[in-house]
Amino acid sequence: MTDITLNDGRIMPALGMGTYKVPDSQAAMVVRAGVDTGFRLVDTAAFYHNERGVGEGLRGSDAFVTTKLWNDRHEDAEVALDESLALLGRDSVDLYLIHWPSPTQGKFVSAWKTLVKLRESGKAKSIGVSNFLARHLERVIDATGVVPAVNQIELHPRFQQVELRSWMEESGIVAQSWSPLGQGDILSDSAIVAIARKHGRSPAQVVIAWHLALGLSVIPKAGSPDHLAENAAAAALVLDEEDMAAIAALDSEDGRIGPDPMSM
Ligand code: NAD
Repeated sequence: MTDITLNDGRIMPALGMGTYKVPDSQAAMVVRAGVDTGFRLVDTAAFYHNERGVGEGLRGSDAFVTTKLWNDRHEDAEVALDESLALLGRDSVDLYLIHWPSPTQGKFVSAWKTLVKLRESGKAKSIGVSNFLARHLERVIDATGVVPAVNQIELHPRFQQVELRSWMEESGIVAQSWSPLGQGDILSDSAIVAIARKHGRSPAQVVIAWHLALGLSVIPKAGSPDHLAENAAAAALVLDEEDMAAIAALDSEDGRIGPDPMSM
């Protein structure tokens, strides 16, 4: 599977597994199944309330683990990370993200300053953000001179984030796609189904291969061993120019599924 080099020189696997809404009681089993299937990156968050199970599922593996700072802890990031580490059962995470800019609170710059210190202390090996617009990224970079390694954003064929992606590429920030399968909705789209038939692959594999072909990191969530295996195998699928153009045409002005970052 492909690796991506972050702007701090560290290596992150491009393809990972999401765990949103995986209950704590099932997370160890699901994560262990993912690691056994070949996933080397696991995405969680304090907000998911499953870090204990995720940590248990990761025990004994050297998979890359990401967790996130929730919105009500922007002034308290150091303690919040310690709490996440205690639940995960480890001394550090590979990537720590500010989950949302929460601009109405206006505290994300000070949270970012704390994340910079947490990177210096080694508790967060790499640091980044999630759901940040260019204006939020500019503010944290201007305040600290430290460019987030990753911005994890909603990104799927119906919401392709072309402008933000190109801004981030120029700034050396890796885009990581959340809800990369459009929460499953995109999988019945006729264009995606036609490409899947052409390659003898599944629609989910086509969409994951599209993210990887764009140089994105991608964290689909799979609840079953079959889907995990299918998603891991997507890394081997190579799409052609015609496929890429057909998927590019699915972008839509109102394709957003999740919340608007300005409102969170
Ligand atoms: P997703 O786009 O990954 O879709 C998940 C859905 O697709 C599930 O219903 C699953 O059963 C189905 N699916 C998965 N593999 C399949 C396959 N091979 N065939 C058919 N169906 C398949 O949606 P998501 O869970 O919202 O997003 C993925 C991850 O992104 C989350 O688990 C979480 O880790 C992260 N996330 C982050 C944020 C954020 O604010 N940073 C927000 C939402 C999600």
